[in-house]
Amino acid sequence: MNELLIDTTQQVLPVMESFYTLQGEGFHQGRAAYFIRLGGCDVGCVWCDVKDSWDAAKHPKFSVGEIVAKLKEETTTKFQNPNPKFQNSNLPIVVITGGEPLMHNLDALTKAIHAAGFQTNIETSGSSPLSGEWDWICLSPKKFKAPLPEVVPHASELKVVIFNKSDFNWAETYAAQVSPNCKLYLQPEWDKAAQVTPLIIDYIKVNPQWELSLQVHKYINVP
Ligand code: SF4
Repeated sequence: MNELLIDTTQQVLPVMESFYTLQGEGFHQGRAAYFIRLGGCDVGCVWCDVKDSWDAAKHPKFSVGEIVAKLKEETTTKFQNPNPKFQNSNLPIVVITGGEPLMHNLDALTKAIHAAGFQTNIETSGSSPLSGEWDWICLSPKKFKAPLPEVVPHASELKVVIFNKSDFNWAETYAAQVSPNCKLYLQPEWDKAAQVTPLIIDYIKVNPQWELSLQVHKYINVP
């Protein structure tokens, strides 16, 4: 079949939720961001705070066209005082998350988001093959299912969740594999933050290539 004749906006994906908020973590922390949380994850982190996302079959499927129509409806149509001077540069970023979003082929979705003028960011463990057109890849490797070696060099940002002391070695394992321009973040696991944040601060003081990432959205109580 001629692939050019396939309407890729008809591809369907399981969507657990989508919402417009601020990016709370990492390099883009503080920016307006529209999150699309896809269902399905085979990584199995014991401390996962979105376990409801794991079973893709539990979540309704929407076409790429429907997902992007909702994105536009919930963002650009509500803008106040749009400044034509900035055109698309002041659009919110679109963050595809999960679950593990790379369990799905994301070529059609990211192409459609780009066509609508938005930038595409992904939050991934890197444990499934890379697909999609990305402006920013946040790689958050998980011990429960390690990243694929071919995904790691594509990371724009390496964000390692620190749950206990041994996670610093895990972080360094991947810091050695990312590109030289990749930003490096250590983020305390939310329920262990009181114990591990002081360890992270001490670590960064003697390893200043790393920065602290906090889940600011949880402190300011937004999704
Ligand atoms: Fe949860 Fe993300 Fe780990 Fe999957 S990769 S189990 S969604 S924290």
